[in-house]
Amino acid sequence: MSKAKCKGKFVIVSGPSGVGKSTICRAVVERTGASLSLSMTTRPKSKREVDGKDYRFVSRAEFERRIEKDEFLEYAEVFGNYYGTPRENAQAAFDDGKTVILEIDVQGALKVKQICPEAIMVFLLPPSQNDLAGRMNGRGRGEDEKTARLRLDTASREIAAAWQYYDNMVINDDLEQAINEVIGIIEGKTGDNK
Ligand code: ADP
Ligand code: 5GP
Repeated sequence: MSKAKCKGKFVIVSGPSGVGKSTICRAVVERTGASLSLSMTTRPKSKREVDGKDYRFVSRAEFERRIEKDEFLEYAEVFGNYYGTPRENAQAAFDDGKTVILEIDVQGALKVKQICPEAIMVFLLPPSQNDLAGRMNGRGRGEDEKTARLRLDTASREIAAAWQYYDNMVINDDLEQAINEVIGIIEGKTGDNK
């Protein structure tokens, strides 16, 4: 996928685990008609998650086969598991001129930004570290303490890096307000922002 072909409108939404990315992205999709890219991952599925709705859950061997076949627009290793955006998800933005939301981490966001410099970048911030910890637990993933700790530690580093790379920082304190802010960012920009 070359830069010359990059005509679609991509909205990258990143933020620490539990900040509210899925909640906000789903609301934005419902209210704007944008589509949400379904990522593929090797992370184990939690009881509450549904394959094909939350992620495409695949084995590490299958993910690596797909890397070999160059099937991903971007992929990254996050918390010891692969996560990636299948190229076909992004293609919709090119073919139908649709807005495609990519809910991905900072590493993936920087790769997409290289391919598509006009991608809109939004980083979600929690109102506080305490709120973030509470929301992480609220997701009911049943994660062990070590993984939860790793996610919280990574959050501080990601937030520090985000100020450097993201042109839109949105605090998800009041949910409605945060949703409207993200919609405003998407609608206020035409795809040749910056
Ligand atoms: P992420 O996708 O970033 O990991 P989720 O969207 O799964 O986060 O949200 C994590 C938890 O926080 C969920 O239980 C969700 O309902 C809750 N949540 C999201 N936004 C808010 C908010 N503004 N205030 C309070 N709780 C929230
Ligand atoms: P979680 O396990 O909490 O669902 O996601 C962990 C991290 O992986 C989050 O930061 C999330 O944004 C990121 N992530 C989810 N899908 C993708 C993807 O397709 N590519 C990349 N690079 N990161 C992703």
